[in-house]
Amino acid sequence: MLGSMMHKQLTISSLIEHAARYHAKTEVVSVETAGGMSRTNWGNIERNSRKLASALGKMGVEQGDRCATIAWNNTRHLEVYFAVAAGGMICHTINPRLHPEQLIYIINHAEDQVLFLDKTFLPAIPKLREHLKTVKAIILMGPRDAESAAMVDGLLFYDELLEDGDDDFAWPEIEETAPASLCYTSGTTGNPKGVLFSHRSSVLHAISGNQPDGMALSARDTVLPVVPMFHISAWSVPYIAAAVGSKLVLPGPGLDGESLVKLIESEEVSIALGVPTIWMGLLAETEKTGAKIPSLKRTVVGGSAVPPSMIAAFRDKFGVDLVHAWGMTETSPLGTLNQLLQKHQSLSVEEQAEIRLGQGRPPWGVELRILDAGGAVLPHDGETQGDLQIRGHWIIDTYFKAEASALTADGWFDTGDVGTIDQDGYLIIRDRSKDIIKSGGEWISTVELEGIAMGHEGVAMAAAIAAVHEKWAERPLLIVVKAEGADPSAEELLAFYDGKVASWQVPDMVIFVDELPLGATGKVQKNKLREAYGNTLIEKG
Ligand code: AMP
Repeated sequence: MLGSMMHKQLTISSLIEHAARYHAKTEVVSVETAGGMSRTNWGNIERNSRKLASALGKMGVEQGDRCATIAWNNTRHLEVYFAVAAGGMICHTINPRLHPEQLIYIINHAEDQVLFLDKTFLPAIPKLREHLKTVKAIILMGPRDAESAAMVDGLLFYDELLEDGDDDFAWPEIEETAPASLCYTSGTTGNPKGVLFSHRSSVLHAISGNQPDGMALSARDTVLPVVPMFHISAWSVPYIAAAVGSKLVLPGPGLDGESLVKLIESEEVSIALGVPTIWMGLLAETEKTGAKIPSLKRTVVGGSAVPPSMIAAFRDKFGVDLVHAWGMTETSPLGTLNQLLQKHQSLSVEEQAEIRLGQGRPPWGVELRILDAGGAVLPHDGETQGDLQIRGHWIIDTYFKAEASALTADGWFDTGDVGTIDQDGYLIIRDRSKDIIKSGGEWISTVELEGIAMGHEGVAMAAAIAAVHEKWAERPLLIVVKAEGADPSAEELLAFYDGKVASWQVPDMVIFVDELPLGATGKVQKNKLREAYGNTLIEKG
């Protein structure tokens, strides 16, 4: 033998053990569902999650069993994350905003054995329960309370369960390729599909996504994941925070601008992460109250395209660096993050800002390519646009219980997004392939049209969609929610595109609405807008 290095499995238990060993006293603060705040630390989180894992074992829950959560971002949810995954079971996080039929489908498809619930979601259970074929135990994430006990027969209480757990329970040895968590996609058509993340994929994703050019959380940071723990493991923030020992602030159910500003100020949050719609609320609140949020250094924003005006607002008003990121459930989610290169340091502030608008570059561990409709690989020249494919250590191979792999014959995952990639690997997402507008054979990016509209002070939210057109096949239509107190005219908004896009790309029409339909994860549901307004131009004649 020439010699060797230790071989250790890359497991979720290694993350929480590290947090307990080297960051035990670092705080985890949480807004509780029942109101008020709780304060604990990584040492307690680790001890409680071991106790919970042992209590689940005593209940007969076995390795590989799915334990579901329907919960906000809070301490008990964090403990369940580690108890279930590090304990060798599979943590199935469920989006509470799904329709009841979808919830039933997902729980039955996953064959969940245990259901952990925040109190908010308990009232839905009596109606759902008879449809849940595999669920053996429903656990309310809190202390015993008579009102809840009366609502659901046989309801168990988290805090009591914890008391049954063993203090000296040791994490089991787990193969790194074993599954750790499960999350269903928020697909707009057909049944949702499950993505099963392994211990290895989760650890590699967390470590690589947290490099200095990525999320860059550290032991000096106070981190606020506004991105829900029910969606793609809150972009791995719980795992990353455990690995590096960040103070964690969990926002509970209050995701409105006012609650977030208060939390950022009182806990001196340095890094916050979430989808653009959340930050619209926060920015509107600061506009109203003049709040300064001085502790905040960085926001990581993704899930849908970040409007350029949002990046500028964070930078110019608060000195906050907004890191634009792209990904999807199937990619764990991090595919790209936007930071500058050494060669960009000498560029002007404006030139640097221009580069930061896009979705960024892949961290170590993933690769991107773009293809034309015939499947030919396209050049990375920053101009040619094509169907985006990805491969790497934390990218899906096969959906949960699916028979066939989801990959192309040569091993890539087709994202359904359309983008350009430049010579340095910077990705710009132009659209979902289903959303892009094809006008007279030319493509128009809805992302670009929306980004411009959102830069107008009279606009709170905007969505661009393809409307059927007799001559051009499709033409862009802009659907706008006015900013509070503003009353922009359609002409004014269309004139705002002058010089920003080619004249044939300017929308044909503006429709004002009170609100846009948002999906369960805060994305605008363009299919609904197309259903409602897609024929407007032909109807108009
Ligand atoms: P989901 O799996 O529900 O998180 O949805 C993933 C999809 O969200 C991606 O395929 C993109 O279409 C979209 N998306 C995520 N991040 C971005 C971003 N930064 N810019 C544009 N679209 C994004």
